[in-house]
Amino acid sequence: MTLRKITEYPSEVLTRSGESITKFDAELRALAADMFETMYAAEGVGLAAPQVGLPLRLFVMDCEGVKLVAANPEIVSAIGEQSGQEGCLSVGKVPAVLKRADKVKLRAQDENGEWFELEGEGYVARCFLHETDHCDGKLFIDHLPKLRREMIVKRFRKEKSWK
Ligand SMILES: [Zn+2]
Repeated sequence: MTLRKITEYPSEVLTRSGESITKFDAELRALAADMFETMYAAEGVGLAAPQVGLPLRLFVMDCEGVKLVAANPEIVSAIGEQSGQEGCLSVGKVPAVLKRADKVKLRAQDENGEWFELEGEGYVARCFLHETDHCDGKLFIDHLPKLRREMIVKRFRKEKSWK
């Protein structure tokens, strides 16, 4: 397993809609293993392929006991509403309060290409939405009003300059 470099805002790959996964082979499983390792090392709960510089529709997550690999993810349904803090490894984990659906059904393929559907609530639902967004070239800050988005980016740049 290899630790991958995390791509950060405003990298172009983070804004591009990913390509579908078509091959479920050893290479894909190795990539998923690398992504888990990279996510754990960064103390995150989810990581999408564009965050390691690859424009692919793939993410991994390990959030509140829900550990999975999701290729070609789709949101089947999203209902209710929750408000909570959200952050992203590509934006230095600077948190912002963001409204999201509270009950979300995810449809995706696992690392062997088997389709599955899974329903998540609360933080898990938030993770489904956040990571699927990444696969569509969207960041959580894109959901924020312009001023708040600029504030998050400013804080991220400031914290980055301290490192
Ligand atoms: Zn993220």
